[in-house]
Amino acid sequence: MSDERAERIADFVESLRVEPGSKVRLGRDFDPRDKAGLKKRDGAELLRAGVDMLAEYQERLAAQDTYGVLVCLQALDAGGKDGTIRHVMSGVNPQGVRVSSFKVPSAEELDHDYLWRYAQRLPERGGIAIFNRSHYEEVLVVRVHPELLLRQKLPDRAGGSGEWKRRYREINNWERYLTDNGFKVVKIFLNLSKEEQRTRFLKRLDVPEKNWKFSTADVQERRHWDDYQYAFSKMLSATSTKWAPWYVVPADRKWFARICTAAILAHTLIDIDPRYPEVDDETRKGLRSARRKLEREAPPRRPADPYAARHPSAVRKKRR
Ligand code: ATP
Ligand code: MG
Repeated sequence: MSDERAERIADFVESLRVEPGSKVRLGRDFDPRDKAGLKKRDGAELLRAGVDMLAEYQERLAAQDTYGVLVCLQALDAGGKDGTIRHVMSGVNPQGVRVSSFKVPSAEELDHDYLWRYAQRLPERGGIAIFNRSHYEEVLVVRVHPELLLRQKLPDRAGGSGEWKRRYREINNWERYLTDNGFKVVKIFLNLSKEEQRTRFLKRLDVPEKNWKFSTADVQERRHWDDYQYAFSKMLSATSTKWAPWYVVPADRKWFARICTAAILAHTLIDIDPRYPEVDDETRKGLRSARRKLEREAPPRRPADPYAARHPSAVRKKRR
């Protein structure tokens, strides 16, 4: 990866980052329709480049087996979480990625502390975990619908505005702990406009193949639009930290949201810069001896090393 390319990605990603400590007002500070002057037709090429880069870095991340990456995706209904995951992760080895979707908590989940179910789905070292909705629901949907907090069986003191401040602090501390222990936390909010949400809901009604995606509950939830904008603004202000910043991705254009997401992930991996493990002298000796044994097994009229015979220049370069 050239330094120039890495720098270009870093600059782009920087423009999406919520400055830690800043006070966000979503409607004022972020435009869901933004596309950074790009055209859709340039988008396909850029996304492909991003997807290829992710695939390569993921392989190294897995080989190094030291760091893990947690990607939290948040959005309002029809924000495009599913499509973003599908497109951005299309090139990576499925064995290295696990997607978890978080819905209304089960009785068992409600019988534990509120971070419990998310902790069960954290990535392993070398892996990438994607949270389709995340622990941030605990300060979003639960904040917008206070009756959900009552179902969480908390001790008496819970509730009121102190509850959210406490949760922000707890979440920040949890993410700090994860980061210190080698797990990068990447938080992406797909920022959709109210009008684009309306359009996407109507598309789900208009196109028979999309009907299954439509849910009347989503339209009910849309009535709380302003409360959600408020809860998102508060959350972004309180939980964008130096160790785990938030990125606000303009989501009205799906192709642009995908490029942004790929760029944010690529930037995270470039920053980790995972390396294939170095082979020490002892192991190298073992490799040489294994090579000699295998070469001696060559049948008559076959090259000692068929791979090297077919790819002489690649093998010469690697052996240097
Ligand atoms: P899609 O609709 O694209 O399949 P989705 O993420 O919207 O995906 P749904 O099953 O429609 O999935 O909705 C999940 C619901 O669960 C959302 O309304 C979300 O707000 C809710 N939810 C998630 N976490 C919690 C939580 N901790 N407490 C209460 N509700 C939650
Ligand atoms: Mg839904």
